[in-house]
Amino acid sequence: MNYDVAWKVVVYCEMATWAKTMKHLLDMTPGQLADWLVDQGHSKYRAGQIQEWLFQRGATTFADMTNLPKELREKLATTFSIMTSAVVAHDVSEDGSEKLLLQLTDRGQIECVLLRDDDIRRSICISTQVGCAMGCVFCASGLNGIDRNLTTGELVEQMLLLQRLLPAGERLSHVIVMGVGEPLANLAHLLPALQRASDTDGLNISARRITISTVGIPTAMRQLTERDARFQLAVSLHAPTDELRNQLVPVNRGTGIAAIMHEADRYFDRSGRRLTFEYVLLAGINDSPLHAEQLASLLAGRTAMLNLIPYNSVDGLPYQTPSANSTNAFRDILVAHQINVRLRRRKGDEINAACGQLRRRMGREQSES
Ligand code: SAH
Repeated sequence: MNYDVAWKVVVYCEMATWAKTMKHLLDMTPGQLADWLVDQGHSKYRAGQIQEWLFQRGATTFADMTNLPKELREKLATTFSIMTSAVVAHDVSEDGSEKLLLQLTDRGQIECVLLRDDDIRRSICISTQVGCAMGCVFCASGLNGIDRNLTTGELVEQMLLLQRLLPAGERLSHVIVMGVGEPLANLAHLLPALQRASDTDGLNISARRITISTVGIPTAMRQLTERDARFQLAVSLHAPTDELRNQLVPVNRGTGIAAIMHEADRYFDRSGRRLTFEYVLLAGINDSPLHAEQLASLLAGRTAMLNLIPYNSVDGLPYQTPSANSTNAFRDILVAHQINVRLRRRKGDEINAACGQLRRRMGREQSES
Protein backbone atom coordinates (compact mmCIF):
# COMPACT_ATOMS: atom_id res chain seq x y z
CA MET A 1 0.00 0.00 0.00
CA ASN A 2 1.49 3.37 -0.87
CA TYR A 3 1.78 6.17 1.69
CA ASP A 4 -1.10 8.18 0.26
CA VAL A 5 -3.52 5.25 0.43
CA ALA A 6 -2.31 4.28 3.93
CA TRP A 7 -2.92 7.82 5.16
CA LYS A 8 -6.42 7.87 3.72
CA VAL A 9 -7.25 4.53 5.31
CA VAL A 10 -6.20 5.82 8.75
CA VAL A 11 -8.43 8.87 8.35
CA TYR A 12 -11.19 6.63 7.15
CA CYS A 13 -10.90 4.33 10.20
CA GLU A 14 -11.36 7.29 12.52
CA MET A 15 -14.26 8.58 10.44
CA ALA A 16 -15.85 5.15 10.33
CA THR A 17 -15.87 4.73 14.12
CA TRP A 18 -17.43 8.16 14.44
CA ALA A 19 -19.91 7.62 11.60
CA LYS A 20 -21.17 4.33 13.03
CA THR A 21 -22.61 6.05 16.06
CA MET A 22 -24.33 8.69 13.93
CA LYS A 23 -27.29 8.64 11.61
CA HIS A 24 -26.62 9.22 7.93
CA LEU A 25 -28.36 12.47 7.06
CA LEU A 26 -28.64 11.44 3.41
CA ASP A 27 -30.74 8.42 4.38
CA MET A 28 -33.55 10.74 5.39
CA THR A 29 -36.20 12.16 3.11
CA PRO A 30 -36.74 15.93 3.30
CA GLY A 31 -40.03 15.14 5.09
CA GLN A 32 -38.29 13.02 7.73
CA LEU A 33 -35.72 15.75 8.29
CA ALA A 34 -38.51 18.31 8.67
CA ASP A 35 -40.19 16.08 11.30
CA TRP A 36 -36.93 15.76 13.20
CA LEU A 37 -36.47 19.54 13.16
CA VAL A 38 -39.97 20.08 14.50
CA ASP A 39 -39.31 17.51 17.27
CA GLN A 40 -36.24 19.53 18.19
CA GLY A 41 -38.30 22.71 18.42
CA HIS A 42 -37.18 24.23 15.11
CA SER A 43 -39.17 25.40 12.16
CA LYS A 44 -39.49 22.86 9.35
CA TYR A 45 -38.36 25.38 6.74
CA ARG A 46 -34.86 24.72 8.08
CA ALA A 47 -35.06 21.38 6.19
CA GLY A 48 -35.13 23.30 2.91
CA GLN A 49 -32.08 25.32 3.94
CA ILE A 50 -30.19 22.15 4.81
CA GLN A 51 -31.13 20.55 1.46
CA GLU A 52 -29.91 23.63 -0.32
CA TRP A 53 -26.56 23.50 1.47
CA LEU A 54 -26.17 19.82 0.61
CA PHE A 55 -27.37 19.73 -2.98
CA GLN A 56 -26.69 23.20 -4.32
CA ARG A 57 -24.04 24.78 -2.16
CA GLY A 58 -21.65 21.85 -1.65
CA ALA A 59 -21.53 22.01 2.16
CA THR A 60 -19.44 19.25 3.70
CA THR A 61 -20.00 20.09 7.36
CA PHE A 62 -22.86 21.52 9.40
CA ALA A 63 -20.54 24.35 10.41
CA ASP A 64 -20.68 25.49 6.75
CA MET A 65 -24.44 26.04 7.07
CA THR A 66 -24.11 29.57 8.31
CA ASN A 67 -27.77 30.58 8.01
CA LEU A 68 -28.79 27.98 10.62
CA PRO A 69 -28.78 28.92 14.32
CA LYS A 70 -25.52 27.88 15.99
CA GLU A 71 -27.31 25.66 18.49
CA LEU A 72 -29.06 23.77 15.66
CA ARG A 73 -25.79 23.32 13.79
CA GLU A 74 -24.28 21.79 16.92
CA LYS A 75 -27.24 19.47 17.47
CA LEU A 76 -27.09 18.35 13.83
CA ALA A 77 -23.36 17.72 14.10
CA THR A 78 -23.76 15.45 17.12
CA THR A 79 -26.70 13.55 15.61
CA PHE A 80 -25.93 13.11 11.90
CA SER A 81 -23.01 12.47 9.62
CA ILE A 82 -23.16 14.03 6.16
CA MET A 83 -20.56 11.84 4.43
CA THR A 84 -19.85 8.32 5.66
CA SER A 85 -17.39 7.06 3.07
CA ALA A 86 -13.74 7.91 2.43
CA VAL A 87 -12.21 8.43 -1.01
CA VAL A 88 -9.39 5.88 -1.16
CA ALA A 89 -8.53 6.41 -4.82
CA HIS A 90 -9.28 9.17 -7.30
CA ASP A 91 -8.22 8.51 -10.87
CA VAL A 92 -8.42 11.10 -13.63
CA SER A 93 -8.40 10.11 -17.28
CA GLU A 94 -7.14 12.21 -20.19
CA ASP A 95 -10.66 12.33 -21.65
CA GLY A 96 -11.86 14.08 -18.47
CA SER A 97 -13.46 11.06 -16.79
CA GLU A 98 -12.85 10.83 -13.07
CA LYS A 99 -13.35 7.75 -10.98
CA LEU A 100 -13.64 7.49 -7.22
CA LEU A 101 -13.05 4.38 -5.18
CA LEU A 102 -14.94 4.78 -1.91
CA GLN A 103 -14.41 2.89 1.31
CA LEU A 104 -17.61 2.46 3.32
CA THR A 105 -17.88 2.35 7.10
CA ASP A 106 -17.84 -1.47 7.11
CA ARG A 107 -14.78 -1.45 4.80
CA GLY A 108 -16.72 -2.46 1.69
CA GLN A 109 -15.52 -0.67 -1.44
CA ILE A 110 -17.54 0.79 -4.28
CA GLU A 111 -16.79 2.79 -7.42
CA CYS A 112 -18.44 5.73 -9.04
CA VAL A 113 -17.51 7.75 -12.11
CA LEU A 114 -17.92 11.25 -13.56
CA LEU A 115 -17.96 11.31 -17.37
CA ARG A 116 -17.47 14.51 -19.34
CA ASP A 117 -18.87 14.67 -22.89
CA ASP A 118 -18.77 17.90 -24.89
CA ASP A 119 -19.39 21.19 -23.10
CA ILE A 120 -22.58 20.39 -21.27
CA ARG A 121 -23.02 16.70 -20.67
CA ARG A 122 -21.78 15.76 -17.20
CA SER A 123 -22.88 12.23 -16.40
CA ILE A 124 -22.28 10.21 -13.30
CA CYS A 125 -22.33 6.45 -13.01
CA ILE A 126 -23.09 5.06 -9.55
CA SER A 127 -22.91 1.64 -7.90
CA THR A 128 -25.85 0.05 -6.09
CA GLN A 129 -24.31 -2.88 -4.25
CA VAL A 130 -20.99 -3.92 -2.71
CA GLY A 131 -20.16 -6.62 -5.26
CA CYS A 132 -22.80 -8.32 -7.37
CA ALA A 133 -24.70 -11.60 -7.23
CA MET A 134 -25.60 -11.84 -10.93
CA GLY A 135 -22.42 -13.66 -11.98
CA CYS A 136 -22.20 -12.41 -15.59
CA VAL A 137 -19.14 -14.35 -16.72
CA PHE A 138 -17.29 -11.45 -18.40
CA CYS A 139 -17.83 -8.81 -15.69
CA ALA A 140 -15.34 -7.84 -12.98
CA SER A 141 -17.99 -6.69 -10.49
CA GLY A 142 -19.27 -10.07 -9.44
CA LEU A 143 -16.00 -11.98 -9.32
CA ASN A 144 -16.02 -11.98 -5.53
CA GLY A 145 -19.78 -12.32 -5.16
CA ILE A 146 -21.95 -9.90 -3.25
CA ASP A 147 -21.53 -8.37 0.16
CA ARG A 148 -24.62 -6.17 0.61
CA ASN A 149 -26.99 -3.57 -0.80
CA LEU A 150 -26.01 0.08 -0.49
CA THR A 151 -28.21 2.29 1.65
CA THR A 152 -30.10 5.25 0.20
CA GLY A 153 -27.62 7.55 1.93
CA GLU A 154 -24.66 5.76 0.33
CA LEU A 155 -26.29 6.09 -3.09
CA VAL A 156 -26.93 9.82 -2.64
CA GLU A 157 -23.45 10.30 -1.23
CA GLN A 158 -21.86 9.03 -4.45
CA MET A 159 -23.85 11.62 -6.39
CA LEU A 160 -22.78 14.44 -4.09
CA LEU A 161 -19.11 13.44 -4.08
CA LEU A 162 -19.06 13.36 -7.88
CA GLN A 163 -20.98 16.64 -8.14
CA ARG A 164 -18.28 18.23 -6.00
CA LEU A 165 -15.66 17.39 -8.62
CA LEU A 166 -17.29 19.90 -10.98
CA PRO A 167 -16.03 23.47 -11.08
CA ALA A 168 -18.39 26.29 -10.10
CA GLY A 169 -20.91 26.99 -12.84
CA GLU A 170 -21.15 23.39 -14.06
CA ARG A 171 -23.89 20.99 -13.03
CA LEU A 172 -24.62 17.31 -13.39
CA SER A 173 -26.83 16.54 -16.35
CA HIS A 174 -27.27 12.75 -16.27
CA VAL A 175 -27.26 9.89 -13.76
CA ILE A 176 -26.54 6.37 -14.98
CA VAL A 177 -27.17 3.57 -12.52
CA MET A 178 -24.71 1.19 -14.14
CA GLY A 179 -21.84 0.79 -11.71
CA VAL A 180 -21.15 -2.23 -9.53
CA GLY A 181 -24.25 -4.26 -8.55
CA GLU A 182 -27.75 -4.97 -9.83
CA PRO A 183 -29.93 -1.87 -9.31
CA LEU A 184 -33.24 -3.73 -9.38
CA ALA A 185 -32.06 -6.01 -6.59
CA ASN A 186 -31.86 -2.87 -4.43
CA LEU A 187 -34.98 -1.05 -5.56
CA ALA A 188 -36.11 -0.15 -2.04
CA HIS A 189 -33.04 2.03 -1.49
CA LEU A 190 -32.56 3.09 -5.09
CA LEU A 191 -35.93 4.74 -5.68
CA PRO A 192 -35.66 7.23 -2.78
CA ALA A 193 -32.11 8.06 -3.91
CA LEU A 194 -33.28 8.72 -7.48
CA GLN A 195 -36.06 10.85 -6.04
CA ARG A 196 -33.34 13.04 -4.48
CA ALA A 197 -31.59 13.14 -7.86
CA SER A 198 -34.72 14.36 -9.63
CA ASP A 199 -36.18 16.62 -6.91
CA THR A 200 -35.99 20.30 -7.75
CA ASP A 201 -34.45 20.92 -4.34
CA GLY A 202 -32.20 17.88 -4.82
CA LEU A 203 -29.90 17.51 -7.82
CA ASN A 204 -32.74 18.66 -10.08
CA ILE A 205 -31.92 16.21 -12.87
CA SER A 206 -34.90 15.37 -15.02
CA ALA A 207 -35.98 11.70 -14.74
CA ARG A 208 -35.55 11.31 -18.50
CA ARG A 209 -31.85 11.91 -17.92
CA ILE A 210 -31.65 9.15 -15.32
CA THR A 211 -30.97 5.63 -16.60
CA ILE A 212 -31.30 2.38 -14.69
CA SER A 213 -29.39 -0.52 -16.22
CA THR A 214 -30.56 -3.99 -15.30
CA VAL A 215 -29.51 -7.54 -16.03
CA GLY A 216 -33.26 -8.14 -16.40
CA ILE A 217 -35.11 -9.49 -13.37
CA PRO A 218 -38.75 -9.75 -14.49
CA THR A 219 -40.39 -9.49 -11.04
CA ALA A 220 -38.33 -6.43 -10.13
CA MET A 221 -38.93 -4.87 -13.56
CA ARG A 222 -42.65 -5.19 -12.88
CA GLN A 223 -42.25 -3.50 -9.50
CA LEU A 224 -40.38 -0.66 -11.15
CA THR A 225 -43.16 -0.26 -13.72
CA GLU A 226 -45.73 -0.11 -10.96
CA ARG A 227 -43.83 2.10 -8.52
CA ASP A 228 -42.00 4.63 -10.65
CA ALA A 229 -41.77 4.44 -14.43
CA ARG A 230 -40.25 7.87 -15.01
CA PHE A 231 -36.72 6.72 -15.74
CA GLN A 232 -34.88 5.42 -18.78
CA LEU A 233 -34.56 1.66 -18.62
CA ALA A 234 -31.59 -0.19 -20.10
CA VAL A 235 -31.60 -3.98 -20.27
CA SER A 236 -28.27 -5.79 -20.51
CA LEU A 237 -29.05 -8.46 -23.08
CA HIS A 238 -25.67 -9.70 -24.39
CA ALA A 239 -27.17 -12.66 -26.25
CA PRO A 240 -30.15 -13.16 -28.59
CA THR A 241 -31.02 -16.72 -27.51
CA ASP A 242 -31.59 -18.34 -24.11
CA GLU A 243 -29.05 -21.00 -24.97
CA LEU A 244 -26.24 -18.44 -25.22
CA ARG A 245 -27.56 -16.05 -22.58
CA ASN A 246 -27.77 -18.86 -20.01
CA GLN A 247 -24.00 -19.23 -20.41
CA LEU A 248 -23.08 -15.54 -20.28
CA VAL A 249 -25.65 -14.31 -17.77
CA PRO A 250 -26.37 -17.22 -15.40
CA VAL A 251 -29.44 -15.61 -13.80
CA ASN A 252 -31.10 -15.97 -17.19
CA ARG A 253 -31.56 -19.69 -16.48
CA GLY A 254 -34.29 -18.82 -14.03
CA THR A 255 -36.00 -16.15 -16.13
CA GLY A 256 -35.47 -16.54 -19.86
CA ILE A 257 -35.34 -13.75 -22.41
CA ALA A 258 -39.08 -13.80 -23.25
CA ALA A 259 -40.17 -12.79 -19.73
CA ILE A 260 -37.59 -10.01 -19.68
CA MET A 261 -38.77 -8.63 -23.04
CA HIS A 262 -42.36 -8.83 -21.84
CA GLU A 263 -41.58 -6.74 -18.74
CA ALA A 264 -39.47 -4.32 -20.78
CA ASP A 265 -42.48 -3.81 -23.09
CA ARG A 266 -44.74 -3.19 -20.10
CA TYR A 267 -42.29 -0.61 -18.78
CA PHE A 268 -42.27 1.06 -22.18
CA ASP A 269 -46.09 1.12 -22.28
CA ARG A 270 -46.18 2.81 -18.89
CA SER A 271 -43.23 5.19 -19.30
CA GLY A 272 -43.44 5.99 -22.99
CA ARG A 273 -39.66 6.08 -22.95
CA ARG A 274 -37.65 4.36 -25.63
CA LEU A 275 -36.00 1.24 -24.23
CA THR A 276 -32.27 0.67 -24.37
CA PHE A 277 -30.67 -2.72 -24.79
CA GLU A 278 -27.01 -3.25 -23.96
CA TYR A 279 -24.97 -5.84 -25.80
CA VAL A 280 -21.33 -6.39 -24.83
CA LEU A 281 -19.49 -7.81 -27.83
CA LEU A 282 -17.25 -10.75 -26.92
CA ALA A 283 -15.00 -11.96 -29.74
CA GLY A 284 -15.98 -15.37 -31.08
CA ILE A 285 -18.79 -15.76 -28.54
CA ASN A 286 -21.76 -13.51 -29.30
CA ASP A 287 -20.54 -11.43 -32.26
CA SER A 288 -21.20 -13.56 -35.35
CA PRO A 289 -23.41 -12.45 -38.27
CA LEU A 290 -25.95 -15.10 -37.17
CA HIS A 291 -26.11 -13.54 -33.70
CA ALA A 292 -26.69 -10.14 -35.29
CA GLU A 293 -29.57 -11.56 -37.39
CA GLN A 294 -31.11 -13.21 -34.32
CA LEU A 295 -30.76 -10.00 -32.34
CA ALA A 296 -32.42 -8.02 -35.11
CA SER A 297 -35.41 -10.42 -35.03
CA LEU A 298 -35.65 -10.14 -31.25
CA LEU A 299 -35.69 -6.34 -31.30
CA ALA A 300 -37.79 -5.87 -34.45
CA GLY A 301 -40.91 -3.77 -33.92
CA ARG A 302 -39.78 -2.36 -30.57
CA THR A 303 -39.14 1.30 -29.88
CA ALA A 304 -35.61 0.72 -28.75
CA MET A 305 -31.98 1.73 -28.97
CA LEU A 306 -29.32 -0.95 -29.05
CA ASN A 307 -25.98 -0.05 -27.47
CA LEU A 308 -23.16 -2.21 -28.74
CA ILE A 309 -20.28 -2.18 -26.27
CA PRO A 310 -16.94 -3.64 -27.31
CA TYR A 311 -15.76 -5.78 -24.39
CA ASN A 312 -13.41 -4.00 -22.03
CA SER A 313 -10.89 -6.67 -21.08
CA VAL A 314 -10.67 -7.76 -17.46
CA ASP A 315 -7.45 -9.22 -16.05
CA GLY A 316 -7.79 -12.91 -15.40
CA LEU A 317 -10.84 -13.42 -17.64
CA PRO A 318 -10.44 -15.18 -21.00
CA TYR A 319 -12.70 -12.92 -23.12
CA GLN A 320 -11.52 -10.72 -25.95
CA THR A 321 -12.61 -7.53 -27.66
CA PRO A 322 -13.69 -8.14 -31.27
CA SER A 323 -11.80 -6.39 -34.09
CA ALA A 324 -13.16 -3.11 -35.46
CA ASN A 325 -14.06 -4.93 -38.68
CA SER A 326 -16.20 -7.57 -37.05
CA THR A 327 -17.79 -4.98 -34.73
CA ASN A 328 -18.72 -2.84 -37.73
CA ALA A 329 -20.04 -5.86 -39.64
CA PHE A 330 -22.23 -6.77 -36.65
CA ARG A 331 -23.57 -3.23 -36.46
CA ASP A 332 -24.21 -3.07 -40.22
CA ILE A 333 -26.45 -6.14 -40.13
CA LEU A 334 -28.59 -4.55 -37.43
CA VAL A 335 -28.74 -1.25 -39.29
CA ALA A 336 -29.84 -3.12 -42.42
CA HIS A 337 -32.77 -4.45 -40.36
CA GLN A 338 -33.73 -0.90 -39.29
CA ILE A 339 -32.62 -1.36 -35.69
CA ASN A 340 -31.40 1.83 -33.97
CA VAL A 341 -27.82 1.04 -33.05
CA ARG A 342 -25.16 3.00 -31.24
CA LEU A 343 -21.61 1.78 -30.99
CA ARG A 344 -20.52 3.04 -27.62
CA ARG A 345 -17.34 5.02 -27.54
CA ARG A 346 -15.08 3.68 -24.88
CA LYS A 347 -14.52 6.29 -22.26
CA GLY A 348 -12.30 6.12 -19.24
CA ASP A 349 -10.47 2.95 -20.31
CA GLU A 350 -7.23 4.13 -18.81
CA ILE A 351 -8.87 4.69 -15.42
CA ASN A 352 -10.59 1.30 -15.49
CA ALA A 353 -13.96 2.96 -15.86
CA ALA A 354 -15.63 -0.32 -16.75
CA CYS A 355 -17.59 -1.97 -14.02
CA GLY A 356 -15.76 -3.20 -10.98
CA GLN A 357 -12.30 -2.86 -12.42
CA LEU A 358 -10.81 -0.17 -10.19
CA ARG A 359 -12.14 -1.91 -7.12
CA ARG A 360 -10.47 -5.10 -8.26
CA ARG A 361 -7.18 -3.46 -9.12
CA MET A 362 -7.03 -1.66 -5.77
CA GLY A 363 -7.91 -4.86 -3.94
CA ARG A 364 -4.97 -6.56 -5.62
CA GLU A 365 -2.58 -3.69 -4.94
CA GLN A 366 -3.60 -3.55 -1.31
CA SER A 367 -3.17 -7.30 -0.83
CA GLU A 368 0.16 -7.30 -2.69
CA SER A 369 1.68 -4.54 -0.58
N1 SAH B 1 -26.23 -5.13 -13.22
C1 SAH B 1 -26.57 -4.08 -14.13
C2 SAH B 1 -25.70 -2.84 -14.04
C3 SAH B 1 -24.23 -3.04 -13.86
S1 SAH B 1 -23.30 -3.63 -15.23
C4 SAH B 1 -26.62 -4.61 -15.55
O1 SAH B 1 -26.34 -5.79 -15.74
O2 SAH B 1 -26.98 -3.86 -16.44
C5 SAH B 1 -23.35 -2.30 -16.37
C6 SAH B 1 -23.09 -2.70 -17.81
O3 SAH B 1 -21.69 -2.91 -18.04
C7 SAH B 1 -23.80 -3.97 -18.19
O4 SAH B 1 -24.39 -3.83 -19.46
C8 SAH B 1 -22.66 -4.94 -18.19
O5 SAH B 1 -22.94 -6.07 -18.90
C9 SAH B 1 -21.52 -4.12 -18.75
N2 SAH B 1 -20.19 -4.68 -18.53
C10 SAH B 1 -19.77 -5.40 -17.47
N3 SAH B 1 -18.48 -5.75 -17.62
C11 SAH B 1 -18.07 -5.24 -18.80
C12 SAH B 1 -16.83 -5.28 -19.51
N4 SAH B 1 -15.77 -5.91 -19.02
N5 SAH B 1 -16.76 -4.66 -20.72
C13 SAH B 1 -17.85 -3.99 -21.19
N6 SAH B 1 -19.04 -3.92 -20.57
C14 SAH B 1 -19.15 -4.55 -19.38
